[in-house]
Amino acid sequence: MRASTQGYRFDWVLLPRGWAQDVEVRVDQAGMIVALGESVAAEPARRVRGYVVPGMPNAHSHAFQRALAGKTEFRAHAKDSFWTWRSAMYRLANRLDEEQMRIIATQAYVEMLKAGYTSVAEFHYLHRPREAELSSPPRSWQALGEAARDAGIGFTLLPTLYQHADFGAAPLRAEQRRFQLDSERFVEELERRIAAERRAGSATQRTGAAFHSLRAVDAGTLREVAARLRAIDPQMPVHVHVAEQALEVRACQRATGARPIELLLRTGALDDRWCLVHCTHANREELAAIASSGAVICIATTTEANLGDGFFDARAYARAGGRWCIGSDSHIGIDPSEELRWLEYEQRLRRRRRIALAGEEEPHVGTHLWRTAAQGGARALGQPVGEIAVGRRADWLVLDPDHPALAGASPQAALDHLVFGGGRAAIRDCVVAGQWVVADGRHALEQPSSGAFSALMQRLAAP
Ligand SMILES: [Zn+2]
Repeated sequence: MRASTQGYRFDWVLLPRGWAQDVEVRVDQAGMIVALGESVAAEPARRVRGYVVPGMPNAHSHAFQRALAGKTEFRAHAKDSFWTWRSAMYRLANRLDEEQMRIIATQAYVEMLKAGYTSVAEFHYLHRPREAELSSPPRSWQALGEAARDAGIGFTLLPTLYQHADFGAAPLRAEQRRFQLDSERFVEELERRIAAERRAGSATQRTGAAFHSLRAVDAGTLREVAARLRAIDPQMPVHVHVAEQALEVRACQRATGARPIELLLRTGALDDRWCLVHCTHANREELAAIASSGAVICIATTTEANLGDGFFDARAYARAGGRWCIGSDSHIGIDPSEELRWLEYEQRLRRRRRIALAGEEEPHVGTHLWRTAAQGGARALGQPVGEIAVGRRADWLVLDPDHPALAGASPQAALDHLVFGGGRAAIRDCVVAGQWVVADGRHALEQPSSGAFSALMQRLAAP
């Protein structure tokens, strides 16, 4: 083994085959795991006490919405809904410049790392500056990449195509103008960015793409642009919001005669590079069709609950063999444990039974949910993460077995404690590409980032 690798000896680690004791890993200078076993090198290895688990990919983020968390929890209309919340979100979106987006995103990403997310897919449609022409590359795309680099989180930027206000190619409304990109410019900017990325060879950053929704991009354009993206990068992750709201499903049926997931399936574009965000109002046939396409569904439970979207039928989808992952979306909660806990609790409340989403071979719900979401998230981000194995990036969390939340927990039950027993405070360290970005519960940027964020929030709150 070359001396340029760093070695770690774990007391306990969750490997793809299950929990293992006294395991050594070697990490190269790019942050990739190059060897793993009982004893893999003559060089000394740093002892890591505690329970080591794969870091969680956050498959759906709109970073700027972190500035809205907690600010819309009062009655403002006779019938508050997703759509009235969206008006508040648009007001915020139209106030922010790129530097402010960077400040908010840095804070969101630091919070993610402290909560156990080690990488994030940023679904970004706030392309245009407020009072200027779009630069090349778009300044906002760079600002988000800088925020991710500063925070030290793995990052997949998903520049998002947004062209219409509603089904039937309705023109954008004034408050949506910052989102507009034509297909040609979208493909050109992506092509340029991906070429630059290939030259730079970053271990933690990559580019995918998204279509905002079938409201914002018609199915014909989606099919055509998806084919062009595939020619640029056959492995490019591609995301789309779909079937989040019952009203959206009805409007799609009225305009096109088909339900949105049906329409998406008919484009023939779906495959295992795709991530379908929400699918809250998918029926059983649609869930089975998505599962067999190989696409992954991103469930954003806390956001879906906060916006009153509806229940996702996770049991039916799991029975169909579907892959899934999680995302903190609007950032009403930035905590993978909370997403997973409420995903399980929704199923328990509906069935009036306990233990809904255990695996066939994994009886521990926390372990099963964590591993499934981490593996699905890795696919959604198009990054080699989600498992602790040779060829994967060194992204992991160290849980402190001496924390009260983990008191008396065997390794096999550690993730049950983390997800259901208030274990977030037991995340002692968070490692991304071999870098200890959170050590002993502290992130190096947390003071300056929260200071800049608080000052910005005060300015935005001023009349
Ligand atoms: Zn979203």
